[in-house]
Amino acid sequence: MREDTLYYDGQWQQAQSSDYTEVINPTTEEVISKVVKANKEDADRAVASANSAFKEWNTLNPDKRADYVEKILEGIKERKQELMDTMIQELGTSSIFANSTQVALAVNEMSASIEEARQYSFEEEVENATVIKEGFGVVVCITPWNFPLNQIQRKITPALLAGNTVVVKPPNLAPLTALLLTEIIHDAGLPKGVFNLVTGSGSETGDYLTSHPDVSVISFTGSTKVGKSLYEKAEKTVKKIVLELGGKSPMIYLKGGDLELAVKNAADTVLHNQGQTCSALTRLLVPKDELERTKEVIKDYYKDIKVGDPSEEDTMVGPLVSEDQMKTVLDYIEKGKEEGAEILIGGNKIDRTGYFVEPTVFVNVDNKMTIAQEEIFGPVLVVITYESIEEAIEIANDSMYGLSGGVVGPEDEAIAVARQIRTGNVLVNDGKRSPKAPFGGYKQSGFGRENGAYGLEDYFEIKAIFK
Ligand code: NAD
Repeated sequence: MREDTLYYDGQWQQAQSSDYTEVINPTTEEVISKVVKANKEDADRAVASANSAFKEWNTLNPDKRADYVEKILEGIKERKQELMDTMIQELGTSSIFANSTQVALAVNEMSASIEEARQYSFEEEVENATVIKEGFGVVVCITPWNFPLNQIQRKITPALLAGNTVVVKPPNLAPLTALLLTEIIHDAGLPKGVFNLVTGSGSETGDYLTSHPDVSVISFTGSTKVGKSLYEKAEKTVKKIVLELGGKSPMIYLKGGDLELAVKNAADTVLHNQGQTCSALTRLLVPKDELERTKEVIKDYYKDIKVGDPSEEDTMVGPLVSEDQMKTVLDYIEKGKEEGAEILIGGNKIDRTGYFVEPTVFVNVDNKMTIAQEEIFGPVLVVITYESIEEAIEIANDSMYGLSGGVVGPEDEAIAVARQIRTGNVLVNDGKRSPKAPFGGYKQSGFGRENGAYGLEDYFEIKAIFK
């Protein structure tokens, strides 16, 4: 059991709070650790630590800041196996996904951001002005559990490179990866106070930190519901806010494209990580007269999917992160049936220890149904038919979200459709994300962009000195 889980002033600290939260392994349902629920005094101390380190860090040469961040990256690479094992235990992500995505993505994106920062002009001359880009001050980073390493990386890397100091509040459900990352950051030898971490609940510790008068930026990744409440709060104190929120992203299959690829691209995002991925392509849109063929392709793809213990090498689908999350997913499945959608595959809880739900596919889905509009955050795919490309685009855009999307079809046509989808990212055919390209949402999926130079720019104050 690890009980002292606060880090500020460059060292681990004894908590003022005596309250704890248990961390549960979702595969075994066993308590594997407990972490402090920081109180106001703990949070005040962490913010004070970040505040006192700001001036020196902000005026340090950007290349020197990049050298420190690079040391964190080296530590992540060295302790990759421990990070993977921790995520498998606390989140139930499969070992395949922990390796190929959870850690690899963090390493690739962090390397790309450091590279971009080293080439970035932190000062430039504009006519008679010197324009300076520098940190805001203290950035509070509030992160979700689904990518317990990379969601923190996507915030602290640009914030630190831009000259800010940070206080991280990781999720209660999966805080152990954040604690391991803190050990790595401690070993990287950053000046004391530049990085700080407090564990605790969202409604108490998170709420207090995001209201703190000495905090300049709220950087939040999580649900749209909490994001909206933080937006209102930031407005009152004119804090800068970066929001990365939920999604209900479409995958459009166009006639003449590779249907197997379209099914794989959508299905993989709802199978890996049990569909607990904000950018998952959860709505598969296919031409009406290709529905029967699509059903066969889906059944064929799902027949070999292994669901089980996430630490086993060939497991693709593990448990949902918590009992609550499992209940939420099962409730959505019931709602889908009630509203008239038809189950093609799965639809039930799996009878074994752990929070397992069968990979599930619905057909006969209307885009107005709850399961087509709301984010389920589970291994559930819905198939929706369309009669014309215009209708496909209309259905794709008929969502309060706008995070991601996919189009599979003849390339020129697919790109033309991608341009009309109102989301921050669209993957065309087998196009892969680049770690230097921006990631972020339109509409209620948030605002601000992560990764590369785009990520850096969210964390700058900009000053003009006229001569
Ligand atoms: P959540 O909103 O419940 O919690 C996210 C974080 O906010 C946690 O650390 C939580 O403790 C904290 N929090 C909760 N209430 C708070 C409050 N009142 N004040 C301050 N902090 C508070 O989300 P979750 O269940 O952890 O994550 C799942 C959600 O995150 C999904 O909606 C998913 O789409 C979204 N997400 C978005 C992205 C993206 O990049 N757009 C990435 C991953 C996850």
